[in-house]
Amino acid sequence: MTYWKCKACGDIQQGKSPPEECNVCFAGRDSFVRIDDKDVDLLERSEKRQKYRRIFKKGFERRLSKK
Ligand SMILES: [Zn+2]
Repeated sequence: MTYWKCKACGDIQQGKSPPEECNVCFAGRDSFVRIDDKDVDLLERSEKRQKYRRIFKKGFERRLSKK
């Protein structure tokens, strides 16, 4: 399994290649670095981040819709 860590916010996403952009901070593909399966503690921290991600994204979408 391959994971990618966002250098900007520390979020971790799974996939064969780095995501187009970060779900959390919307950083580009260049911001992702590959990490190993063994970095389990990082993954756990990322899961805790999931709920904040949803809150953050909601706020971001709200800002977009106001424009
Ligand atoms: Zn990020």
